[in-house]
Amino acid sequence: MKILVTNDDGIHAPGLWALAAQLTGAGEVVVCAPDREQSGTGTAISLHRSVKLTEVDSLLPSVKAYAVEGTPGDSVILALRMMENVAMVFSGINRGANMGHDVLLSGTVGAALQGYLHGVPSVAISVQAGQAGEETNFEVAARLAPLLAARVSSNGAGALLLNVNLPNLPLERIGGIDITRVGKGGYSTAITMVRDGSRDDYRITIGQPRWKAEEGTDIHAVDRCRISITPLQGELSTAREVLFPEDLPSMLFREL
Ligand code: MN
Repeated sequence: MKILVTNDDGIHAPGLWALAAQLTGAGEVVVCAPDREQSGTGTAISLHRSVKLTEVDSLLPSVKAYAVEGTPGDSVILALRMMENVAMVFSGINRGANMGHDVLLSGTVGAALQGYLHGVPSVAISVQAGQAGEETNFEVAARLAPLLAARVSSNGAGALLLNVNLPNLPLERIGGIDITRVGKGGYSTAITMVRDGSRDDYRITIGQPRWKAEEGTDIHAVDRCRISITPLQGELSTAREVLFPEDLPSMLFREL
């Protein structure tokens, strides 16, 4: 089975290669990823400029690697066109959790979403970033990937989109795996102004997370040293019954 491995931290990120290395046991792996850090680019694709794709040196024998001068979404679109019969897309392993509202901003999830939209089962994997001076432990996440690949490829349920988040801990300190829903809250943003000659430039940076650890959510699971698997596929508008009681559309239409 052919597996596409991508990310949003860029083709040189250690998490990408830890993931690719473990997946070589599950199938034929091709790496196609942005040529530089693209975190926070979400589902963006480059519609207004051309995108360069270059074969680059691979860190793994038997794995071809391509760098894309574009977004994670661009990388998946190009790779799926270039390769035939891709069985799965794996995106990550991202340095930093992608939970709560950040799911919508995450290039890691954005890449997996592109796979899903092309009908390919896709998995985004992220590990909570280590504190300053602390390493990010990709090992458990990387070991989980081929296990998920085996389950997902044999389940025959068609396209699916999973968002997996792990605490930054060795296996012996992780309590288990929870199937979760997307929680509330996300990283805060900060703005720094840089005076650049005659104009003002602004730098948007990511601050501390402001998360609500409600039970059953991705945030709650990782908070409690557990692995979170959130199935993201399905209707984007599942809250419609809550927001719109049955008679509301006809009421609104009458009021027009
Ligand atoms: Mn990232």
